[in-house]
Amino acid sequence: MDAQRRIVDGDVVVVGDRIQAVGPGRAKAGAKTIDCSGLVIIPGLIQAHIHLCQTLFRGLADDLVLEDWLAKRIWPLEAAHTADSIYWSAMLGAAELLLGGTTAILDMETVRHTGAAFEALEAIGLRATAGKCLMDAPTAPAGLREATGPALEEAAALCEKWHGAANGRLRYCFAPRFAPSCTGPMLRAVSDLAERHAAMIHTHAAETPAELEIVRRETGDDELSYLDSVGISGPRAALAHCVWVDGDGIQRLARQQTNVVHCPSSNLKLGSGLAPIPEMLAAGCRVAIGADGAPCNNRLDAFSEMRLAALVQKPRLGPDAMPAAQVLELATLGGARALGLEKEIGSLEVGKKADLAVLDLSGPHAQPESADLVSRIVYSARASDVRHVIVDGKVVVKDGGLRTAKLEEINREANKTAGRLRRAVGL
Ligand SMILES: [Zn+2]
Repeated sequence: MDAQRRIVDGDVVVVGDRIQAVGPGRAKAGAKTIDCSGLVIIPGLIQAHIHLCQTLFRGLADDLVLEDWLAKRIWPLEAAHTADSIYWSAMLGAAELLLGGTTAILDMETVRHTGAAFEALEAIGLRATAGKCLMDAPTAPAGLREATGPALEEAAALCEKWHGAANGRLRYCFAPRFAPSCTGPMLRAVSDLAERHAAMIHTHAAETPAELEIVRRETGDDELSYLDSVGISGPRAALAHCVWVDGDGIQRLARQQTNVVHCPSSNLKLGSGLAPIPEMLAAGCRVAIGADGAPCNNRLDAFSEMRLAALVQKPRLGPDAMPAAQVLELATLGGARALGLEKEIGSLEVGKKADLAVLDLSGPHAQPESADLVSRIVYSARASDVRHVIVDGKVVVKDGGLRTAKLEEINREANKTAGRLRRAVGL
């Protein structure tokens, strides 16, 4: 994913947390090596819209329309979270992500216990920009609604503590849930805080026509235009979904270089629609991909999202829409931009952070070897093809096994806490 999109037969040399060399014969004698002969080393995949706090809700909210999905399941479940359940929800999600070759995420937590998610992320070794969800509108659900001032104070305190922690691997984002759940003063304050702390803003936008209608009724404005008027736009902002965006909206997103995060599985499962991603890319928009939360997917699998991102556009625009190489770019360089880290991650280049995934494409589903390599990665590969993963120069997955935490313990504790949450909301 360098500027020339080269495919190199050689070594990747890592010193400390950075890539020192890429090319044939670059490994020095005596260096500690991982033999990747016959394997494919790619930049770690980046997902720019994840809710780790929802991993324990997997399978608890299937086949519902978004409004019921939120009001009857997700909001009561989020309100029932404890610090313990947030921790294990993050561990379970992060384990799945790392084992599937995702090395960095933009994450939206719930309103409480965000510190517990950061503790899990610190321990397990995923690169993450995460933020406490903000909801202060009078119409926000009672179990999650917070007063504007204290919510912003907590967000600022979390930012002070975690933005740049773990050698810069952890960063904070300000995460208003979406326009209808926040007051105008809250959104304006978020914009100022993000600017002051050089942090990203992570929110949802234009996911359903109902959402656009609420914003129009309450503000008299189009949602993207309203968000812009309160300072939620530009390279510092990442907007998940952007399904219902017209030509003017696309021009606005492109002009302001706002990050759009495409979540094809979530948009399909919730019946939200099809985001006009090829039109956005043609207009010069910044686009990343993401799995969204486990209850609306139900995987956190970058390979599924890449494959779907390519396939879903083709019935509408023809089979030449969204070619594999363009999709791989969304899952690497596009994600890096959406995290504000384009100088640090997203490609295998000298000086960048050593975030790598190593794939074994010898399975019959990804053969023959003579097929185009990018095609094999985007259309054929699956999460279980990931052999090794390195984040920030540390080996976090080796031979398909998680090295930074015990998977059996994560499964046991996640099951225990998921059961407790389910009983708390009567499911
Ligand atoms: Zn979401």
